[in-house]
Amino acid sequence: MQNIVIFGKGGIGKSTIAANLSTVYALQKRKVLHVGCDPKHDSTVGLVDGSLIETFMEKHARIFGVRDHGELKASDLLVKGRLGIDCAEAGGPEPGVGCAGRGISLMLEAFQDLGLLKGGYDVSVFDVLGDVVCGGFAAPLRKGFAEKIVIVVSEELMALYAANNIAKSVRTYSSNGVYLAGLVANLKDGKVDRRRLEKFAKLIGTRILEFVPRDQAVREAEFARHKTVVERSPRSAFAKSLKSLAAKILSVRREDCPVPTPMDDRRFYGGW
Ligand code: ADP
Ligand code: MG
Repeated sequence: MQNIVIFGKGGIGKSTIAANLSTVYALQKRKVLHVGCDPKHDSTVGLVDGSLIETFMEKHARIFGVRDHGELKASDLLVKGRLGIDCAEAGGPEPGVGCAGRGISLMLEAFQDLGLLKGGYDVSVFDVLGDVVCGGFAAPLRKGFAEKIVIVVSEELMALYAANNIAKSVRTYSSNGVYLAGLVANLKDGKVDRRRLEKFAKLIGTRILEFVPRDQAVREAEFARHKTVVERSPRSAFAKSLKSLAAKILSVRREDCPVPTPMDDRRFYGGW
């Protein structure tokens, strides 16, 4: 089984990329678990029927109040998606109240209690918000859920700042067997100088797995009840890029991934 975690700044394209990766793997007849770990809880919307599924936090309020984890079945936590993908969303608290990371920690504890990752999956894809690498958002790294970390960036400085921070948490948890497989450059501007991104990757001790093009097929798929691009527009530039990325992620080996070397903040802001 391969445990893949897609991290990155909010709005960078994590869910779009994660959902399309899960779809590529499912279309290749792999058994896939897809887990959204972002209070936005829309990672799985394109994998079901275009609607938001009940989140773990919503379920927690509804079910866990009367039963303990031991009586739950994995099916209580998962929704079967269109291509047979098992889907879960951590969800989050009401805006302004509570801690979103706590929902992720609680959900992963329930997964562990239920032995969910022993459920015969070929691939698990976790889609995790990486603006704030607080304990909750780092939970997939701490609890042995993660193996391959992939960070989505763009050419924008703040996306790279978030990536540098995520690389710090990968370094912290590398003793858990977590490793940075590489970056995905989801470009906002197709004409951008790619060398700066390549330099950033080299500085933090990793590589760019794929340059994903900006493609209007992404927006069209979203408006078509959130179908994934690889299903709706399989010949689009985005779909081709995602198929290539899906294969590359699977083929990355731990021994080719040194512990990352993130910059400290002063170095990051000092120019490079
Ligand atoms: P995140 O999960 O990181 O918050 P999303 O996957 O929701 O980000 O993407 C944010 C927005 O950017 C979405 O509306 C999506 O359609 C758009 N988007 C992401 N990647 C691309 C791309 N390669 N081409 C066109 N639009 C994109
Ligand atoms: Mg998202």
